[in-house]
Amino acid sequence: VPEIPPRRLGIDLGGSKIEGAVLDPAGRVVAAERVPTPAADGHAAVVAAVAGLVARLEARVGRADCVGIGTPGSIAPDDGRLRNCNAACLNGHRISDDFAAALGRDVTVANDADCFTLSEATDGAAAGARIVFGIILGTGTGGGVVVDGRLVGGPDGITGEWGHNPLPWPTPEELPGPECSCGRRACIEAWVSGTGLAADHARDGGPRLDGREIALRAAAGDPRARASLERHHERLARALATVVNLLDPDVIVVGGGLSALDSLYARVPAGWRRHIVADPVRTRLARARHGDASGVRGAAFLAAARRSAS
Ligand SMILES: [Zn+2]
Repeated sequence: VPEIPPRRLGIDLGGSKIEGAVLDPAGRVVAAERVPTPAADGHAAVVAAVAGLVARLEARVGRADCVGIGTPGSIAPDDGRLRNCNAACLNGHRISDDFAAALGRDVTVANDADCFTLSEATDGAAAGARIVFGIILGTGTGGGVVVDGRLVGGPDGITGEWGHNPLPWPTPEELPGPECSCGRRACIEAWVSGTGLAADHARDGGPRLDGREIALRAAAGDPRARASLERHHERLARALATVVNLLDPDVIVVGGGLSALDSLYARVPAGWRRHIVADPVRTRLARARHGDASGVRGAAFLAAARRSAS
C-alpha cells in the first residue's frame, strides 16, 4: 500500500464555480475555498483563478504534495485537449500543460464524474467495494468506474459515459425520444438527468419545475408530480439494468442534485430486477456520502490513485 502524502490538494473546476480543498492523510479537509469561475473572461483567466486558489490554500497549510483537478468533459487521448467542458472557454486547450505551467509542477486532470466515483469508492458510500459505478444525475449525467480502488480509463477517455446510450426497452410513447445535449436523440441523459426529469414533467402538462420542486410536490400528494417521479425512476431502472448486466458492480453510487430524491433508492432496484439476468440482484444502489464535496475529494485523491490504463 503506497504511503498517503500529508497534503493532497483537489480542485473541482465547474462552469460556475471553482472549489479547492486540501486533505490530510485521514481524508479530513484542512483548508477549503470556493471562487466563481471567470468563464466569461476566457481560458487564461480561469487558469489564473485556479493558480490563485492553490496559492491561497498553500499559504494557509503549506505546499501540497500533489494536485489533482476534476472538470466536466474529457481529455482527448491523442492530443491532450479538453472536450465537452461546460466551462467552454477551456475546450480545445491542453489544460494539464496549462495548469502544470501555472503551478510549476505536475498536475493530474480527470473528468469530474471520475473524481466523484473515486471519492465515493475510497472513503464514501462505496468504501470497501470492489467494483463501483458512480453516476451523477444533475444538469447532465456523468459516470465513472473504479475497480479495486483504481479509476478505469480507456483509449478514448470516455469510460462510464452511459448517459449517451439510448434509453433501453423504450415504449412506443417514448419514441423517437427527446433531443440530447450531445446532438443525438433518446439518450439516457435526456430522460433521467435533472434536466430530463424537468422536461418530462413539462411535456406531461406540468409546470416548469426542477427535480427538487417536483419531489416536494410529489411528497405533498400532487398526482402529476408523483407520476413524473415514477416514470423517472422506472426509466433509470432500465438504464442501470444494462449497466449491471455489463459490469455487475457491487455498488452504484448516485450523486448530483437528483441524488436527494429518497424514493429513488427503493423504486429503482425494484424496477431493475426484471431486466437484470441475475436473481437475486446483489448490486446495491447508494446515495453519495460526501455529496457536493465528492468532486473536490476525488480530485485530491487522483494523483495517488494511478489510472489503470496508464
Ligand atoms: Zn446524448
